[in-house]
Amino acid sequence: MEIVTTFSDARARRSGIVGLVPTMGFLHEGHLALIEAATREADLVLVSLFVNPLQFDEDADLARYPRDLDRDAALAADAGADVLFAPSVDEMYPSPPVTRVRLASLTTTMEGAHRPGHFDGVATVVAKLFAGLQPDKAWFGMKDAQQLVVVSRMAQDLSLPVEVIGHPIVREADGLALSSRNVFLGPDERHAALSLSRGLFAAADAVRNGERAGRVLEGLVVEEVARSGAGLDYAELAGADDLVRLDRLDQRGFLAVAARVGETRLIDNVWLDEDGSAQVGQRLDQPSILYG
Ligand code: AMP
Repeated sequence: MEIVTTFSDARARRSGIVGLVPTMGFLHEGHLALIEAATREADLVLVSLFVNPLQFDEDADLARYPRDLDRDAALAADAGADVLFAPSVDEMYPSPPVTRVRLASLTTTMEGAHRPGHFDGVATVVAKLFAGLQPDKAWFGMKDAQQLVVVSRMAQDLSLPVEVIGHPIVREADGLALSSRNVFLGPDERHAALSLSRGLFAAADAVRNGERAGRVLEGLVVEEVARSGAGLDYAELAGADDLVRLDRLDQRGFLAVAARVGETRLIDNVWLDEDGSAQVGQRLDQPSILYG
């Protein structure tokens, strides 16, 4: 695997079907699953690693975001990446961007409501990656459900010739959704963090048993999170295409939760269907590589 730091060097490596997996680094099995999926469908797999200042709404969160290029390079290579694109902030933003990609809808609820400007930053950097690297396909995690919908719609609206593919959530053995931020959780916080997935799994079970009312499904998550002492930002049942809040699960959608555990903000979701099926992702059967 080669490590490159400029768009032109990354583009020079293109051949055949080019797959892109955009990340902010500090890789875990969730990222690796995306890379492995990409190797099955693409001739050349590009992994980008860029902690994008434009999508952070809190300076402290940006400052403490975990970074380790050598570790990430070894993991990405092992998973089958061909090229790791790790640009500097200057390469990504040679001058402060006056052009931003802003969606006229889809970004005002859930994460968008709690993280002002976040999706402008995401849509802008992903548009830059799509334009500058020219991938044929790009993989995104269903863990960031709203982001997946936003990026897919952005690519479609701008006629960017990239197929956006969603990949199921990868979870730690106890159910906690993998996140680079999990490394910050102390033992008590980790215990509280489990309330997110526990609430979501209860809601998925309720759907399998016939429950369709949005308030009831959201309530199962709210109750678990409240009991743990974590600070709930939202628990919301949203339609998969337009992200509008659903009173009833009468179309494909997802139930998303965001909560603060100590200083760490976590998100998670389950994907639900009106036919009563639920997609909660897959679990590791051993401790995550996040913990060394
Ligand atoms: P990040 O580095 O957190 O920006 O994530 C990079 C990509 O990996 C995004 O498309 C995420 O949705 C995806 N991702 C992060 N965590 C997980 C997970 N636990 N399962 C599946 N995909 C994930």
